[in-house]
Amino acid sequence: MSTTTKQNRIEFKDNVLQYNTFSFYLFESFGGLKIEHLNDYSAIVLEANDPDFTKLILKRFRSHNNPEFYLKPIFLINYKTINDPVTESLHDGVIASYDQIPEKVNDIQQILTLSTHIDHSPSSNFEVFLMKKILNYMYTRELRSLKPFPDVNSVIGFTYPIVSVNFETHEETKVLDLFDWAQKENLVWPDFYDRVYLCNGCGSGHLSYREICPSCDSANMKSEDLIHHFPCGFIGPISDFKNQIDSVLNCPKCSKSLRHIGVDYDKPSIINHCQNCNEVFQDYLVKARCVNCGVDADVQYLVSKNINVYKLTKKGRSASSSGIFTSEYIGAEEVFGSVNSRTFNTMMHYEQERIKNNTSLSTNIALLHIENIFDLLRKLGKSKEKVFIAELVQLIRENITPADFINISNPSLIVICINDTTEAKAQTAMMKVYDKIEEMVFNNFNKFQLEMHYKVVPLSTTVPFEKQLLDLTKSLTEQHD
Ligand SMILES: [Zn+2]
Ligand SMILES: [Zn+2]
Ligand SMILES: [Zn+2]
Repeated sequence: MSTTTKQNRIEFKDNVLQYNTFSFYLFESFGGLKIEHLNDYSAIVLEANDPDFTKLILKRFRSHNNPEFYLKPIFLINYKTINDPVTESLHDGVIASYDQIPEKVNDIQQILTLSTHIDHSPSSNFEVFLMKKILNYMYTRELRSLKPFPDVNSVIGFTYPIVSVNFETHEETKVLDLFDWAQKENLVWPDFYDRVYLCNGCGSGHLSYREICPSCDSANMKSEDLIHHFPCGFIGPISDFKNQIDSVLNCPKCSKSLRHIGVDYDKPSIINHCQNCNEVFQDYLVKARCVNCGVDADVQYLVSKNINVYKLTKKGRSASSSGIFTSEYIGAEEVFGSVNSRTFNTMMHYEQERIKNNTSLSTNIALLHIENIFDLLRKLGKSKEKVFIAELVQLIRENITPADFINISNPSLIVICINDTTEAKAQTAMMKVYDKIEEMVFNNFNKFQLEMHYKVVPLSTTVPFEKQLLDLTKSLTEQHD
């Protein structure tokens, strides 16, 4: 009874298809299209006949920082299974024809439902931000472990697709650093899979191993068997037993021809002869030259790293809906011109008391949320992060008065107390701060565009400050998801 009539055939019109309450976009080629334009569709059907294009689009979605995109259900059509772990791990299923779309709506509904459980509280550092993203993906796909796959494109020779997609291929060692961090935070636990050896200079695993001469480091050496002739006791390299005419071996000492190995002679070991310095030796050294940075190191100095299968702990499984909490952003303590959260809260408490007793005074709280700051910090690296944050604080200081104070509870959230001024004036000050920061980053970091939002509210005289700040943070960070 398989009678598919023409009427209930499923067709895309202008790349869009509506099926029940679900909308699908058929992604065939770029043509000026940005994935940000595809926010409103419930799922993507990706034309997958070109493996490079398929991988590129999947990576664009999964590496995005907004859950709207990195969690988007994506199905492949016209896909011929290729042996690529990255492509294989980043899609949500394969369909043979559009008529199979109805079969996928349950999966989509499941992903969408699970997505609503996700916690959106702002991350306190780069590791939290990234791990949270990975855990969110795993939660919506009901995955419990992260497996490594051998990958020639990775500098460590292995890839963890949904983690690695957030790094450049030459940054794959940072994936292992992230796992070390997640393990310390008790979000994952390791299950040994394999071990890799990495360059101690740059962390790359692309190494060229050579046996070399212990006296001159040359790899130009010849190895040959050592022969022990039992009747006369002579020991020497096999070449001394050979002649130009036939394959018969003759002892150079007693001239007898050799008959059977194990009976009248033996090969006790190997002897090496350096063609460069003429040294003869039994034990050679092994060195590994890094193809990436050129460092040539004795193998004993390579960095060995375990490649593990990482399984989620109980904490890891629930982190996607409950959030990841770590200690306060460490950098903040040392940033000149800012105060830590505890000091800030105490000062705000006094400020509240001060304005309670004098209605002519008004104090404002400004909260600045820099949504994509971790993208920038990741590019900068840990060492330059502090300098950057210090510059940011300096820039803010230049646009507020010396009596105002700043707290950076984490790099994406900056709280400023603007005293003794009207709300309107505080708004103007923040507008200037916003423009200055945007300009500074754009000009100094290769036209990087920060996504920022801010809010200014008068300090409440009735609600405790911590509560007011929490509400303000929530309203500012959640409205943009
Ligand atoms: Zn002999
Ligand atoms: Zn040598
Ligand atoms: Zn190297």
